[in-house]
Amino acid sequence: QLTGKTALVSGSTSGIGKAIATVLASEGAKVLINGRSEDKVNEVIQEIQKQVPGAVLEPAAADLGTEEGCSRMLSAYPEVDILVNNLGIFEPKEYFDIPDEDWLRFFEVNIMSGVRLTRRYLKSMIDSGDGRVIFIASEAAVMPSLEMAHYSATKTMQLSLSRSLAELTKGTRVTVNTIMPGSTLTEGVETMLNTLYPHENLSVEEAEKKFMKENRPTSIIQRLIRPEEIANLVAFVSSPLSSAMNGAALRIDGGLVRS
Ligand code: NAD
Repeated sequence: QLTGKTALVSGSTSGIGKAIATVLASEGAKVLINGRSEDKVNEVIQEIQKQVPGAVLEPAAADLGTEEGCSRMLSAYPEVDILVNNLGIFEPKEYFDIPDEDWLRFFEVNIMSGVRLTRRYLKSMIDSGDGRVIFIASEAAVMPSLEMAHYSATKTMQLSLSRSLAELTKGTRVTVNTIMPGSTLTEGVETMLNTLYPHENLSVEEAEKKFMKENRPTSIIQRLIRPEEIANLVAFVSSPLSSAMNGAALRIDGGLVRS
């Protein structure tokens, strides 16, 4: 489906980004693997190549939470066919304890990385007439959050931004869409589960069940989302099969949010 396409997945050395990179590579795309550390990027490339023999992957280490890192990326790779704005940081903190520095850092990493990359890549996609921009937002974009107001605000901004950008693609085959995952079983979330229930000797599945019951009672599926489930949705949105979908906000949250 994606042979001949080049995809950049920002923040693809772990979690959801790594799963997206793996699935896009297995669909035949050349994937640029990004993280801040070159060593980690190379390690992940080897890992994915073992999983997907013949995968075409290129190292693209850069700190995309900075203007300089984004400029370096854009100079090294002036054009891509598929841009997945996956990079995002998340640190729970009470609203009253969030200083300006944290707000600005979340803004730089979660929003400005996508703004800077999309400004260039979307333009070249529109000029060539084809392409895909996909933002990985979150359930948090449309839910009130007690301990992550700053994170949530950036996720809502991604949603709004992608809707505005979709308007720019009229008359082309370019699309801009947002995917909103629910809580997903990444390495980071597994660590969070261990911290939440340190003395109960629970398996991951048991901890996940308890977490869902206590924190996500409205979820219909009562389990965390798997990174591969999001990755396969990204593969569909990246493919020509999704060409009627533009400016969409796709929830993959087990029915947590009803609208
Ligand atoms: P993660 O922390 O596992 O991975 C983040 C990736 O970004 C890593 O590869 C890390 O090395 C890289 N990274 C961090 N800062 C960077 C920088 N400045 N420049 C370049 N790379 C950098 O994240 P995740 O949990 O897989 O989340 C991925 C996306 O999905 C985020 O946008 C997040 O908000 C969203 N999301 C996550 C969940 C969840 O439960 N995990 C739920 C909904 C949405």
